[in-house]
Amino acid sequence: MKLNLDKNLRPDLSAKVAALINQHKWIIPTWLHTLSVSIGHGETDIVAKCHVDHEYRQATIQIFDRFATENNEFQESTIIHELIHIHTSPIIDYVKTTLDETIKDDTQRNLITQQLDRLHEGITCDLEYAIGRKI
Ligand SMILES: [Zn+2]
Repeated sequence: MKLNLDKNLRPDLSAKVAALINQHKWIIPTWLHTLSVSIGHGETDIVAKCHVDHEYRQATIQIFDRFATENNEFQESTIIHELIHIHTSPIIDYVKTTLDETIKDDTQRNLITQQLDRLHEGITCDLEYAIGRKI
């Protein structure tokens, strides 16, 4: 797996994120060929987010400004959380695409999508917690 680090990330932050990803690389699915880390701006509540492109075997973890202000334990949990999303996102993307194609009623589709997003996030947090207890 190739790791691409955004050159706009602060050097200390870049090194820290790379070290955390390396420490938890066993979580990363074997199908992933490229993991990129980029810097995000303009979000105050979000610490990090992950975009997965399963078809091209790529994922990007976006690190927001708040990440740098959090303590080491929270930063580690955040990276674990985002790495778990690499596993869960392909099936969630499939379900959302299927919902878009089959449910034409916007209200119904939006309600199901919101419930799916909550469930997806909850499962990811549960796995993050379970992994965090073991390490
Ligand atoms: Zn999440």
